[in-house]
This record gives sequence, structure tokens and C-alpha cells, in this order.
Amino acid sequence: MTSPSRPKPRYDVVVVGAGIIGLSTALFLRERGLSVAVLDKGVPAYEQSSRNWGWMRTVGQDMAELELALQSRPLWRRWAAEGDFGFRPCGLVSLAETEAEWSALQAWFAQARGRGLDTRELDSEAVARALPQLRRHQAGGLFAPGDAGIEPDQAMRFLERKVRDAGAALFAGTAVRHIDISGGRATGVETETGPVAADAVVIAAGAWSRWLSATAGIVIPQLKVVASVLRTTPVEDGPLPNVASTAFCLRRRRDGGYTVARRNSSLTYVTPDALRFLRLYLPNYLKQKQLLRVRAGASFFRELWLERRFGPGRPNPFEEFRACDPAADSDTLKATFARLQQDMPVFRAARIAAAWAGTIDVLPDALPILSSVARHPGLFLATGFSAHGFGIGPAAGKLMAEIVTGEAGASSRAPFRLERFHLNGD
Ligand SMILES: Cc1cc2nc3c(=O)[nH]c(=O)nc-3n(C[C@H](O)[C@H](O)[C@H](O)COP(=O)(O)OP(=O)(O)OC[C@H]3O[C@@H](n4cnc5c(N)ncnc54)[C@H](O)[C@@H]3O)c2cc1C
Repeated sequence: MTSPSRPKPRYDVVVVGAGIIGLSTALFLRERGLSVAVLDKGVPAYEQSSRNWGWMRTVGQDMAELELALQSRPLWRRWAAEGDFGFRPCGLVSLAETEAEWSALQAWFAQARGRGLDTRELDSEAVARALPQLRRHQAGGLFAPGDAGIEPDQAMRFLERKVRDAGAALFAGTAVRHIDISGGRATGVETETGPVAADAVVIAAGAWSRWLSATAGIVIPQLKVVASVLRTTPVEDGPLPNVASTAFCLRRRRDGGYTVARRNSSLTYVTPDALRFLRLYLPNYLKQKQLLRVRAGASFFRELWLERRFGPGRPNPFEEFRACDPAADSDTLKATFARLQQDMPVFRAARIAAAWAGTIDVLPDALPILSSVARHPGLFLATGFSAHGFGIGPAAGKLMAEIVTGEAGASSRAPFRLERFHLNGD
């Protein structure tokens, strides 16, 4: 089914953002018979959703997100039966090189056990058997056979088609300039091509949600982090499961190469928001300092200049920056690849074939907001997935649709409520 070139004047629900979260939400809203338009300022899924590692994982997930991860597994499997997007239930091995890392993995497993997981512990011999390519000794590891690898760009093209076939109208190149509020209610959006009315508006705008929410006077403490990734040329006899370690993370691609990155190498910048929300981020930052590198510089003034240009009635940064396409950190990627070649000699014959980066939207507790907005009935948020949104995207979209229709139970909504940050007079 093709969409008309411009949105109709009114829908039951307008979803802003055609990443995995916006598209999944739209799909489950259509299943409930609502008319839905999905609006994206650029090319659907061009930002985080098609440039991620392609992991669908349970290992290491926060307990609050684990349920969404487990619910997403059968949804991904069902979708994979409908279309080919490189879904591979290859499992994930999470490595612990040091005793301290091993204790941390075991502590996570002790909490997660009994929640329907298929995870099992591996001692150092079992790790060596699971990953014969690995030359470095490990203290232990966890293996989750049901975790999977997915080709993100192919999955997103599949989902885009599926959402259109389900009858949602999808508009690329249609920036939403602000949220319309009337009598305290969200009544629709103003786009660059005109107003669109709706009973409900869902902001699923990834790293841009902070600014779009601000047009309705809603504060979300969202910051941005830049993460870099590389892909290799094909590798013979490389590892089949996804591998997570402090030094590198990898997934075998369907072209025989690997997507490789280092999880503790993301960059964040000192911005006005970083100072505003410092109090909220500090506890988590102090616990995980080694996972993030902080840079100060011109980014502070660039953000300050940008944030003053959002607002109604005129072109703004949503239109100016149709695609968030940051530069990759090639020094870190080269060092990561060198370490991988050292630890797994099968990679020595491979080369770096491409590198890219993505801007990740994070929240202080690294959990998303999937929530109504008390101050503005009709306004909903589905954002802040803090680098875990792709794998859990299907179940997160389903939960969001249930929140919009009022079907979601209080316990499934509780961990993801906007009110937990107490920034909007709540
Ligand atoms: C390098 C990297 C590796 C990652 N690896 C993994 C992984 O292996 N597994 C995992 O689960 N997660 C991973 N993630 C995280 C995951 O990709 C994200 O959590 C998820 O894609 C977020 O989806 P989203 O729909 O919220 O946002 P996005 O995919 O960023 O989509 C938001 C959309 O909103 C649109 N938009 C914004 N503002 C407006 C506006 N005003 N008007 C109209 N449209 C607008 C944008 O154009 C964009 O298309 C990774 C992320 C990165 C960057």
C-alpha cells in the first residue's frame, strides 16, 4: 500500500519518528483498528535504527527491560517468518576477562534467574569450547542461545513495508515543527507542510525527542552520545554467536563480514543540557565512568544556538538536520580492530571495509520513557532507549500502543513513566 504524498488533515494517532519505535508503535496501533500517520523529517530509520550493531539480547539487560526483551523474541521470530532480513538466532556469549567482570556477570545472572531466561554460565573451559577462535583466557562467561543477530537496515525496510501494508500512512521528509496543544490537550502537530490533527500524538523522535517535547513545554532529561562502529571484509571460520566483551563486541553479518565495536568508547559532549541534568546523571556516571568519554568545546555553544531555534511557525533544526550522521571515531575503531585481531587471529586476514557512527539518545537511568504525559492528555512519549532500543523495539512498540489505547496494566507501565524524573511539576 502506498501513502498519499501529504498527510490527511486528521488521524486517530500521529506518530513522530519512523525509527523502530515509531514504526512498531504504528503497527500495533493499526492492529487495534486506529488510523495512524507516521511522520519522519528525513529517510525512515536512517538515524539510530539502521546503524546499530543488530543485536537482540537479553544478557545484561536491566531487570525492568528484560520482560520487553523476552517478549520481543517471538515477535522478531514471527516477523522473520514473514520476510528475510537476516534474522539469525545465533545466541550471544558475554565474556568476563577478569574476576571482577565475572562477578558482575554472575551478579546480573543471579538477579535475572527465574525470569524465563535460557541463559547459562560458562566456566573458562566452556568459553574456550564455545569460542575456539579466542586466544585470550577468560574468567568465565554467560551464553544466551535465544539471543539473535539481525541486519538492522534490512529489518527496517521490512518493517517499513509491513507498517504500510497494515494501512498506516508513512511520510518521509515531513518534519514536525511543534506539538499543538489546545485547552491543555495535545490536538495534533504542525508539520513543515501544514497542520495535522489527531486524538493522540506519540513522540518517538529518538535523539530529537528532547526538543520536540520542549515545544509542548515538557522537559525530558535526554542527552546524546556518539557511538562508532565498523564492518569487516568476510572472515572464514569466524565466531557464529554474537560476542560481548569489554575490548570488543561483534556480530557475524550475512555477507560473511562482522559488525565490530567497543561498548566502552562512546563520546558525549558538555552541552547546556548536560549541565542542566547533571544532578540526575551523576550517580550512574560515577558508577560507569569507564564506559563514557566526555569532551568539552564548541559543542556547548552550538547546542545553545540550536536550542533557541526550535519553535512554532518557522523552519527549524528538524528541517535543517534531516539526518543525524556524525563522524566515526576512526582511532578508537582501529584500536578495537587491532585488539580483536590479537585475541582472535582468524580476523588477521580481514580488513576494515567501512565505518560509521550514530547518535544515541540516553536517559539518566538508561531506561526508556514509554509514557503518557499527565499535563497534556493525548500526548505520549516513546523515547530514550539508551542504546537498547533495537532488540526490544517490537515489544516496546506493542506496549506503547497499549498505553495509547489504555490497555496497558499499571505494572508494565511503571518503570517507564515520565514522572519518575519529577521535572514537569509532578
Ligand atoms: C552505534 C549504535 C549501536 C547500537 N546497537 C544496538 C544493538 O545492537 N541492539 C539494540 O537493541 N540497540 C542498539 N542501539 C540502539 C538502537 O539503535 C536505538 O535504541 C533504537 O534504534 C532507537 O529507535 P528510535 O525509533 O527511538 O530512534 P531513531 O531510530 O533514531 O528514530 C527516530 C526518528 O525520528 C525522526 N525525527 C526526529 N525528530 C523529528 C521531527 N521533529 N519530525 C519528524 N521526524 C523526526 C528522525 O528522523 C528518526 O528517523 C544502537 C545504537 C547505535 C547508534
